[in-house]
Amino acid sequence: MTCIAKSNHAMNTLGEIYAMFDTAMAAFPFACAKQCADCCTCNVTATGLEIAYIHDRLDGFARDDIRVRLDRAGQTRRYRPFQTTNGFALACMAGRDADEEENDPSWGICPLLDNGICTIYPVRPLGCRVMMSTTPCRQTGQADMPFLALTITTVFMQFVEHLDAGGVYGNFLDLLEHAGTDALDCNGVPGRDKIPGTVKNLKIPALMIPPGHVGKTRNLVQSLGALIRKNDRPLT
Ligand code: SF4
Ligand code: SF4
Repeated sequence: MTCIAKSNHAMNTLGEIYAMFDTAMAAFPFACAKQCADCCTCNVTATGLEIAYIHDRLDGFARDDIRVRLDRAGQTRRYRPFQTTNGFALACMAGRDADEEENDPSWGICPLLDNGICTIYPVRPLGCRVMMSTTPCRQTGQADMPFLALTITTVFMQFVEHLDAGGVYGNFLDLLEHAGTDALDCNGVPGRDKIPGTVKNLKIPALMIPPGHVGKTRNLVQSLGALIRKNDRPLT
């Protein structure tokens, strides 16, 4: 399939959101370090726009490397979300319980990991960036996130989804495998062929911010709102 990547406001906005997220997270005492990569599994999620961003920002050599790594890894069992973050917010507003989902790190490591180093680190999706811990996960067997950091990551997940409203959300590797095909063009727009295990991105129905964090996240939310408005996609 021929697809010409257009100069895309949304991709630039996504890059700005990533930079804002990394800055916001720098305020927390995370223990994450180079080559600490137990969180790099095949279960990461992403939006279609994030896949387009990766392809747009990497050169042909790096894109070929991704293809080789995906082919080598083959199809493994992966986490496939039943709903998006904004879908979860909608379900909460309607008083519905979230569906039970399966997610197991033992299903495998991310094939883009090389000797404990991410081969696409500067352009990795938000689903990777949000995996942080104040104690090394290997010591405790789990990630420890301060409550405020959890709120902030959720807000960023909501905005990144909103930016790609109408697009797709799913397992990062599933989406990468379909990048630049009839199912997901090089601008991250889904085609007629649905990628199995993906769901539709939604606009933000309401931000999931606990009352105690409203004041602490106000500036961040205003900045994110301004970024989204710049992209001509008004918040609902
Ligand atoms: S989230 Fe855990 S495994 Fe991942 S880099 Fe941080 S401490 Fe290491
Ligand atoms: S893309 Fe990079 S950061 Fe994300 S899971 Fe894979 S190796 Fe880890």
